Amino acid sequence: MSSKDFRFLEIPRQTPRTVPVAVRVLGYGEISGDFAPPEAAAQSERCIDCGNPYCEHACPVHNYIPNWLKLVQDGRLFEAATLMHETNPLPEICGRVCPQDRLCEGACTLEQGDFGAVTIGSVERWATDEAIRQGWRPDLSRVKDTGARVAIVGAGPAGLSCADRLRRAGIAADVFDRQHEIGGLLTFGIPPFKLDKAIVRTRRMVLEGMGVTFHLGVEIGRDIAFEDLLADYDAVFVGTGAYTYVDGQLEGRDLAGVHDALPFLIGNTERLLRDEEPSAEYDLAGKHVVVLGGGDTGMDCNRTAIRLGAASVTCVYRRDEPSMPGSRREVGYSREEGVRFLFQRQPMALLGEDGRITAVRVVETQLVAGLDGRPRPQNIEGSETDLPADVVIQAFGFQPSPPDWCDAFGIERDHSGRITVGGEGRLPLQTSHPQVFAGGDNVRGADLVVRAVYDGREAAASIVRLLATAKHTAPLRQAV
Ligand SMILES: Cc1cc2nc3c(=O)[nH]c(=O)nc-3n(C[C@H](O)[C@H](O)[C@H](O)COP(=O)(O)OP(=O)(O)OC[C@H]3O[C@@H](n4cnc5c(N)ncnc54)[C@H](O)[C@@H]3O)c2cc1C
Ligand code: SF4
Repeated sequence: MSSKDFRFLEIPRQTPRTVPVAVRVLGYGEISGDFAPPEAAAQSERCIDCGNPYCEHACPVHNYIPNWLKLVQDGRLFEAATLMHETNPLPEICGRVCPQDRLCEGACTLEQGDFGAVTIGSVERWATDEAIRQGWRPDLSRVKDTGARVAIVGAGPAGLSCADRLRRAGIAADVFDRQHEIGGLLTFGIPPFKLDKAIVRTRRMVLEGMGVTFHLGVEIGRDIAFEDLLADYDAVFVGTGAYTYVDGQLEGRDLAGVHDALPFLIGNTERLLRDEEPSAEYDLAGKHVVVLGGGDTGMDCNRTAIRLGAASVTCVYRRDEPSMPGSRREVGYSREEGVRFLFQRQPMALLGEDGRITAVRVVETQLVAGLDGRPRPQNIEGSETDLPADVVIQAFGFQPSPPDWCDAFGIERDHSGRITVGGEGRLPLQTSHPQVFAGGDNVRGADLVVRAVYDGREAAASIVRLLATAKHTAPLRQAV
């Protein structure tokens, strides 16, 4: 080992500066600042290139992390951006929203040795932002047009990733989305303090520059029949996400002042995009807010409620803190911004007066060993208490919501509604309909951006294989 291999002993782990709490809660800007170029290079230098990069293995798209850290360290920014895009069509977005503590950085050898992981996500984000700002674009100059055409339903991360890969293979990619902007939950679910919407617009510009065509405000099944896509295109990728709420079935859930997480978050993002004040329904100024649920969506609701001026925000979770499913970073930010956590409390009922919520009845829980390895909460009889609340936000999660037309075309689903893909006799990500591929939340259930990106990428690879084996495309259409 050379002295360079021990730079981590001299250079401590440093993430980009965050906006001070007192300032950040006044608005919706991203709270994480940017590296200056020497900081990004110095942080990259901390990588010991351990020879067995667990970070790559833990990254769902298997980024070539040590290789691009070396390029950033050497100031070869455009080459770093090119290498990042080889595995990940949305690196600047994953660099922002991945729960790195549970993925790449959690597996970094330096983290295992208690030296603090290399700041992989921040470098990925910085290098892509900066390369695009300096004019870097994917180089498609050697790509030959194959004449094949693929329709993509859904402009979320799964659909965008698929479109990127298809264009690199010379296949036309037409992306349809019922929303008026691309991004899916990147635009309408994840709040702007985690992901500035300008970043998604920049990515749209990059994808359009690659030849991807977007058809926005178009719902497949309403404005265009799915049948027409099958007839007009060589293959179809379905990346329609997961939008069915997990209903906690709490008594009192119809009371005024009780909201579901996604309409609350989408409503707030949309009004910010329109530059409007919050509606009376979502104006939380001076109110006592209780958020039910301990996942990333719950954390987004907590922090949005703080920015909407809530007098207090209490987050109720039925297990203990180590069992929380979301990113530890997001829990930390919630806490910094003034959210109070109540662990091991199970909501039992929503109480009201004159049709409006006034309190949440919770019972304490004890944790026992669960069959799936996660601790299972058991209610402790007689430990009920009522938490006063003016507003309650339910963030219990989402289930897949595959469109109705799936059944009509024999696209199989499992017992929980997820589209089934791959397996015996099928290509990876291919559904039971040979011309149709699917991926992202509608296949996995509510999951992560980076896993949707992986699915889109792998589905595109399967489509390329399918189209390469079909002598020409017309028989494929007739065969199904
Ligand atoms: C509040 C919230 C916060 C989150 N925070 C994070 C985070 O910090 N980090 C992280 O990694 N993940 C996070 N996630 C999860 C992540 O956003 C999803 O896993 C990811 O967006 C799934 O991508 P997708 O492409 O499968 O679906 P989506 O992003 O849901 O996109 C699906 C798209 O399909 C479109 N569509 C659906 N049906 C049709 C139709 N019939 N016709 C046309 N268009 C259609 C929809 O309009 C939508 O644009 C969060 C999720 C939520 C809800
Ligand atoms: S895509 Fe996500 S998990 Fe992979 S290196 Fe980037 S931040 Fe880490």
